[in-house]
Amino acid sequence: MDCDSGCARCGASEETINHTLFQCHPARQMWALSQIPTALGNFPTESIFANLDHLFWRIPSDYDLSAFPWIIWYIWKARNDKIFENLDKDPLEVLRLAEKEAQFWQAAQSELQEENHGSVVSTTRSRVREVSFDSNYSGYRCFVDGSWKRSDKFSGTGWFCTSSNGEPPTMGAANLRRSLSSLHTEVEALLWAMKCMIGADNQEVAFYTDCSDLVKMVSSPTEWPAFSVYLEEFQSDKDEFSSFSLSLISRSANVKADNLARKVRTEPSHITYVNNIPQEWLF
Ligand SMILES: [Zn+2]
Repeated sequence: MDCDSGCARCGASEETINHTLFQCHPARQMWALSQIPTALGNFPTESIFANLDHLFWRIPSDYDLSAFPWIIWYIWKARNDKIFENLDKDPLEVLRLAEKEAQFWQAAQSELQEENHGSVVSTTRSRVREVSFDSNYSGYRCFVDGSWKRSDKFSGTGWFCTSSNGEPPTMGAANLRRSLSSLHTEVEALLWAMKCMIGADNQEVAFYTDCSDLVKMVSSPTEWPAFSVYLEEFQSDKDEFSSFSLSLISRSANVKADNLARKVRTEPSHITYVNNIPQEWLF
């Protein structure tokens, strides 16, 4: 049996872990393009121990080295793409993906911390149906949520809208091709809910989300350049409302939209429901 131990990417006669992660051309290119300082004869080298030692301990603290685990992981994934699917990935593109993932991970960590700090509400998180919103309001309230899981084909978006004039609530759920991150899905959920509200001619709408980054993004769009395309769309849609707001609520106050988004995420095929969902589908 012919067991090929050579490197599929560069043709080197032996593919070691160190070769794949640090010495093969595409890996070298990624390290060279990354924020991590490289120096001839110092990093990357022939020794996996020296290379890991460099990454863990030798980088001056004024460099941002937080992305290196993701860079390693993405080099490995690109190597597998080549071996199993014969795909050649552009090293710069792969590096950008790795760095983006690292950023999202960090953002998720700080969001988790915030949530843990705000533990006043978390005691009531489980199985709470309704928070005591002031029942005196005008126009509409629209609760939005997104649901995202890396391993799933779709991401889910959902909204649940109540009216101040006694009309029965309306709702929507749609799955979309899985977007880049859970935050992308939250933005897509808001944009879709806004479009549905515009379509129903609901002009005075207070939107609610349990995603604090979404609220931050909408209030200071220039600080989120990676989302600029979404935010331009947001801005022009927002102009369609006579009254618009987006407020942060706890997750327990957002269960209906959350359920809609989560259920539709795991549906096997593409689905868009508006207004015609049987109640049992919700809970
Ligand atoms: Zn190679």
